[in-house]
Amino acid sequence: MSYKIVYDKNSCIGVGQCATMSNIWSMTNRGKAELKDAKEVSPGIFELEIPDEAYSKELQAANSCPVSAIKIVKVE
Ligand code: SF4
Repeated sequence: MSYKIVYDKNSCIGVGQCATMSNIWSMTNRGKAELKDAKEVSPGIFELEIPDEAYSKELQAANSCPVSAIKIVKVE
C-alpha cells in the first residue's frame, strides 16, 4: 500500500505551516504553497505519490494546514 498527497492549491491561504514541517513543500512569492514534483490533475489540484517512510511526516504537515488544503490518500 502506498499513499499520495492531494493538494488543493485553490484553498491555500499561504500560511506556510506545511513548508516548516516538510521540505517537499515551499512557499511561492504568489502566496501559495508549492508541492515539489506534483502533477496537476485538474485545475489547482495537485497529486504526488509518497513513499511509506514519508507518511507520518506528511500526515503531520497535512494536519497542520489551517484550511485542510492537504489530504493524504491511500493508493490501492
Ligand atoms: S499549510 Fe495549508 S494554507 Fe498554509 S501554505 Fe500550506 S497548504 Fe497553504
